[in-house]
Amino acid sequence: MCGIVAYIGPGEAYPVLIKGLKRLEYRGYDSAGIALMNGTMNIYKQQGKVADLENYLTDKPVNGNIGMGHTRWATHGVPNNVNAHPHLSQSGDLAVIHNGIIENYATLKEGMVLRGHTFESDTDTEVLIHLIEDVMQHTNLSLQDAVRAALKQVVGAYAIVIMSKNHPEHLIAARKGSPLVVGIGNSKGEYYLASDAT
Ligand code: GLU
Repeated sequence: MCGIVAYIGPGEAYPVLIKGLKRLEYRGYDSAGIALMNGTMNIYKQQGKVADLENYLTDKPVNGNIGMGHTRWATHGVPNNVNAHPHLSQSGDLAVIHNGIIENYATLKEGMVLRGHTFESDTDTEVLIHLIEDVMQHTNLSLQDAVRAALKQVVGAYAIVIMSKNHPEHLIAARKGSPLVVGIGNSKGEYYLASDAT
């Protein structure tokens, strides 16, 4: 289990994410990735160190007031750029970062493959974000309620943060058995999420 940092507020998210991910490096990890909301959702991920991700981003747009960052310690799928987080739902609308393990991911995946889902990575995490979208498509639930309903089907431990292109002003977070804390910023509407209270 590795690191999560997320920011929503009036400031720029990117510097907060990079600083936070560097402070979480002591936990060990094999890859790093971020998602930033700026009209559209930009996702960048790299195997290796946070500094490798930073170098990769020198000529990329990194502005946005909402963002989430992840360092991965692979449990399902080898360490590489594809298996690094964030992961996308089938439509590409939803993105997730996740610390932990979805124990029943294989059963959930099997069901969704039969319903036409295709998966890019070997991770348990990608199954989770597909499941959330699947629930939304088969019910009239809001994103927030679909996350709750999907998590009821999940066996395992998780701290997750979700971003949605269709809800560009929101971050959704949940945890069970993996740490995740919410910090309230100094400015109005400013919040932080992190997998380590310090
Ligand atoms: N089980 C997930 C994976 O292998 C998350 C690992 C983590 O906590 O970093 O991608």
